Amino acid sequence: MRWSERQVAMLREMGVRVWAPPREPAGTGDVAEAPEVVAVLPPQGRPPPAPVAPAGVVPRPAVPSAALPVPGGPLPAGIATMGWPELRATVAACTACTLCEGRTQTVFGVGHERAHWMIVGEAPGEQEDRQGEPFVGKSGQLLDNMLRAIALTRGEAEPARQVYIANTLKCRPPGNRNPAPAELAACEAFLIRQVQLVQPKIILAMGRFAVQSLLRSTEPIGRLRGRVHQYHGVPLIVTYHPAYLLRNLEDKAKAWDDLCLAVETARGAAPG
Ligand code: URA
Repeated sequence: MRWSERQVAMLREMGVRVWAPPREPAGTGDVAEAPEVVAVLPPQGRPPPAPVAPAGVVPRPAVPSAALPVPGGPLPAGIATMGWPELRATVAACTACTLCEGRTQTVFGVGHERAHWMIVGEAPGEQEDRQGEPFVGKSGQLLDNMLRAIALTRGEAEPARQVYIANTLKCRPPGNRNPAPAELAACEAFLIRQVQLVQPKIILAMGRFAVQSLLRSTEPIGRLRGRVHQYHGVPLIVTYHPAYLLRNLEDKAKAWDDLCLAVETARGAAPG
C-alpha cells in the first residue's frame, strides 16, 4: 500500500516514528515513491489473527450486571428491539443512574449507522456534555488524526470510511471522575443495541474503563492489546485512550500497532 504525504504527516502527528528504507540507486525508477511507512504497516500476506480467548478475560461479568445496585430509576424496557429513533430518545430520557442528575445532555453517538468501524470510548467529558457529541476535545483531535492515518473519518462518507463513535457511558461523570461499575452496567444495554444496529466489522475499544467493562476483565490494557477479542460476535481490538496517549507519547507507537491490527482484522472480516 502506498501512503500519501498527508497520511505520513498524520503518522507523524501521532508521534509514530517511521522508518525510511535505503534509497534505491538512481535509475531503478522507484525512488520518487514515498515508502517511509512501509515498516510500520501490517505485513502483507500475514493471515488475519485468529480470535483468541485471552487469559484473564472471563466469559461472564465478574459481578453480574443484574446484581449491581443501580442508583437511579429502572432501566427502560425493550431496548433490545429498539430502532435508532426510539433508542436515541430513550437514551435522552434515561434516568437509570444518578449521572442523569448532573448532565447537560446525553451523548448518544455519531457517525454512519451502518459503519464498518465502531469506536468505543469511555464517557463524555465537559465539552462532550456541552456539545452532545463524543470526542470533541483535544483527545478527539488525536482520535480524528488516528482515524485519518488509516483512511477513516467521522465526517460524511460511505460506511467503509465513516466510523460510528460511541461511549460506554452516555452521561458525563461529575468532575470527569472514573465511571462506576454500576453506571457502566446500567448503560451497557444501550451500547449493545448500538452495536446490533450498526453491525460493525470491527470495534476499536479505547481506554481502560471501556475495555475492561466490554471484556469483563480486570487486566490492564497492556495485557489485553495485541490480540483479537470478541464483543457480541464482533471482533474487538483494544487500544489506549487518546487522552492517555496525549500524556504518554512513548505509547503512541503501540497505538499505531493496534490500529494496524484492527485494519488487518477488519480486512479479514470484510466479505469477499
Ligand atoms: N473521552 C471519551 O472516552 N469519550 C469522549 O467522548 C470524550 C473523551
